[in-house]
Amino acid sequence: MLDLTYRPRRLRTTPAMRALVRETTLQVEDLIYPLFIVPGTGVKEEIPSLPGQYHLSVDEAVNMAKEAHALGVLGVEIFGIPTYKDEQGSSAWDMEQPVQQAIMAIRKEVPELVVVSDVCLCQYTSTGHCGCVENHEVLNDETLPLLAKVAVSHAKAGAHMVAPSDMMDGRVAAIREALDEAGFTNVSIMSYAAKYASAYYGPFRDAVHSAPEFGDRKGYQMDEANRLEAMREIELDIREGADIIMIKPALSYLDIVREARDNFDYPLAVYNVSGEYAMVKTAAAQGLVDEKRIVLETLLSMKRAGAKIIITYHALDVARWVR
Ligand SMILES: [Zn+2]
Repeated sequence: MLDLTYRPRRLRTTPAMRALVRETTLQVEDLIYPLFIVPGTGVKEEIPSLPGQYHLSVDEAVNMAKEAHALGVLGVEIFGIPTYKDEQGSSAWDMEQPVQQAIMAIRKEVPELVVVSDVCLCQYTSTGHCGCVENHEVLNDETLPLLAKVAVSHAKAGAHMVAPSDMMDGRVAAIREALDEAGFTNVSIMSYAAKYASAYYGPFRDAVHSAPEFGDRKGYQMDEANRLEAMREIELDIREGADIIMIKPALSYLDIVREARDNFDYPLAVYNVSGEYAMVKTAAAQGLVDEKRIVLETLLSMKRAGAKIIITYHALDVARWVR
């Protein structure tokens, strides 16, 4: 029982005193920076829906990766826009496409950086869905070998870690098996284990041109009302071979993050998604909030909830602020 003579303010008297009793810290080592790769060379174009973020050709992505590394950021996650789309999404495993080329180039030019690759089909399919489609239905088991092919192509290009974001059932097991068969036993899997069908992804879809042609993603991404189901999703992915589990989005799902932290002793990541970023940037641009303080407080809350890794568009700014 707390003694009523206890005065909490005693431990808040000076900056040093507060630092001594601080329970959670945000460090540059927690951050992964997403990169959007497009075809061409010399391309660095700001993404209208994500101010301060860019569509980058491979050469410019290497420069950005160098900058991230110089700031102390440990990893980048690669997303891409291919030169062609088809029904199957076959550009997703084409070694000549921007993603595979960027992975190769970054591994060569910035060897210390951890290279994570997003594994999905929605940027590559003509339907904009995360799997094969038949009669307006996204098929699960038919999609798994395609995702496995994508993951193996990223591993061949040199990715340290693949990150399946599609939410098909059984995809972590399919990817693990394919990686192992191809000899990539050391390539790890960070699964988007609990990925909700969230409105917070809006700006990202503009960034990668992946809005679905029909319907929505609620048939495979999670219902935002569900908490217990998230624990089942995470448990499944761990049993299938995930090395790191991720919860996406971050900010509106910190209860899920805390529950995952309490239930599973695996490294936990969150994706601080495009809508979260865009809200802060818009409010800051209008002078309504102090951007630095809001961002640091928001990301710290993700750490406090139990995440270790934060995938965030703020990574380079935060790296400058917390050094
Ligand atoms: Zn997708």
